[in-house]
Amino acid sequence: MDSPHESRHRVVVLGAGMSGLCMGIRLKRGGIDDFVIVEKQPGLGGTWWDTRYPGAQVDVPAPAYAFSFAPNPDWSRRFADAAEIQSYQQALAGREGLLPHLRLGETLVEACWDEAAAEWRLRTAAGATLHARWLVCSTGPLSPPRWPDLPGLDRFAGPRLHSARWDDAVPIEGRRVGVIGTGSSAAQLVPPLARKAARLVVFQRSANWVLPRLDRRYHALDRWLARRPAYARLVRRGWVGVLEQVRRGFDDGHPMRFLLHSLAHGLRHAQVRDPALRAALAPRYPLGCRRLIFSNTYYPALARPNVQLDTTPIAAVEPDGLRLADGRGHPLDVLVCATGFDTARPLAGFAVHGLGGRHLDDAWAEGAQAHHGISVAGFPNLFLLLGPNTATGHTSTLLFIEPAVEHVLACMARTEAAGARAIEVRAEAMAAHNAALQARLVGSVWSRCHSWYRAGNGRIVALFPGSAAEYAAAVRVPREHDYRLHDGAA
Ligand code: NAP
Repeated sequence: MDSPHESRHRVVVLGAGMSGLCMGIRLKRGGIDDFVIVEKQPGLGGTWWDTRYPGAQVDVPAPAYAFSFAPNPDWSRRFADAAEIQSYQQALAGREGLLPHLRLGETLVEACWDEAAAEWRLRTAAGATLHARWLVCSTGPLSPPRWPDLPGLDRFAGPRLHSARWDDAVPIEGRRVGVIGTGSSAAQLVPPLARKAARLVVFQRSANWVLPRLDRRYHALDRWLARRPAYARLVRRGWVGVLEQVRRGFDDGHPMRFLLHSLAHGLRHAQVRDPALRAALAPRYPLGCRRLIFSNTYYPALARPNVQLDTTPIAAVEPDGLRLADGRGHPLDVLVCATGFDTARPLAGFAVHGLGGRHLDDAWAEGAQAHHGISVAGFPNLFLLLGPNTATGHTSTLLFIEPAVEHVLACMARTEAAGARAIEVRAEAMAAHNAALQARLVGSVWSRCHSWYRAGNGRIVALFPGSAAEYAAAVRVPREHDYRLHDGAA
């Protein structure tokens, strides 16, 4: 019999963000009840649990940020804020009966494939053991926060915040605040901080492409209409179609590229009067190489009298502020690092040992890769959701999560129907898939700047180059020849 610290499950899902919840819902709806969702945070939501900085909003229209099978007619605005998305997730988990399956506040630290038993043996940080036939890792690429590699960072005497680990208790009102970073997170948190801080300095290493945000409040009529399934479907499809058109703007010479350039240029000229500031905000890399920023409030915030944009490289962090490469100092009370996530190595901090004890880190020594971002050769019965090369710079991740979940369920069903012990992607199928993917990425817009899409060796490990529809068509039904079943004598 299992000890209180030992449990057995048909499926263990790691992470209670959008992809973990989607997996749980589809398991439950498919009649599979023997599963747990293990989440290190004390609440569900994944990145939406972590993202609590002021101004945090989804950066695609909310109708495209609800599952196709669970529309939300109650969005208060087109670009819903983080708290509203977290409420959607919470309500969904409750409605779909997922709450009893959640193991919150538990961190999985190790997974070992036991070939003899054909199961994963998992260990938590607190020392509990879980056995599972299937392991689904749904931690996504945007999980561990990345702090800037600046000398003296730990010596800063005041509060130091990261955009992905916000602490509301830190007062901003009347303080001198420094923000390092100018990506999607910074563009959202700078405007509300600028309204509160006595003085705000934004430290920019690279200027990014900013486009107008077509935001608006949803009124009672919108919500009434959104309760009509045909209308809700139409709106969702409409936005997905618009976002795919934006993607066309990443192709050299496409008219959409011209339109996006004009919109970005127009916004900068309309919102930034000071020519020196405008010049400093002009991006120096091709549009689309990093995720686009949609904001109507970022540039006006930078133009406020209490806000300064400083583009001089930071030399060091000192106890009372930042020292720049030209010797100037910025005294600060609060330091905000909007410096993104450690994305080069998915599942960092979680030691995964597959067939023959092979460590996933060794399999990924040249950069993370998987078959369609989902399965890794040598790691049977393991699936990743939002794994390598499934991120996009233009659309909703949910469009990638849903078909990947169907792929996982189909693999499980095939294995169990065949009476096999396990399923594993063929190394040659995975290699061919990745060779084709990398060939498409050579010379693409994403190869022309550094970004979180790339590993240290330059390989583009996070981004999918095609449309969401292409990804869905490729993965929804796994190709039989891509996988091999481990039979009873394995
Ligand atoms: P990010 O795009 O990786 O941006 C990090 C920023 O920090 C960059 O401006 C970077 O400069 C700067 N930085 C890093 N280290 C630095 C250093 N040592 N000195 C100076 N500057 C430094 O991170 P993010 O803004 O958190 O966004 C990451 C992703 O999260 C986005 O692309 C998006 O997919 C997602 N996101 C989504 C939402 C949403 O849906 N609402 C909101 C926020 C984020 P360089 O550019 O020069 O490297």
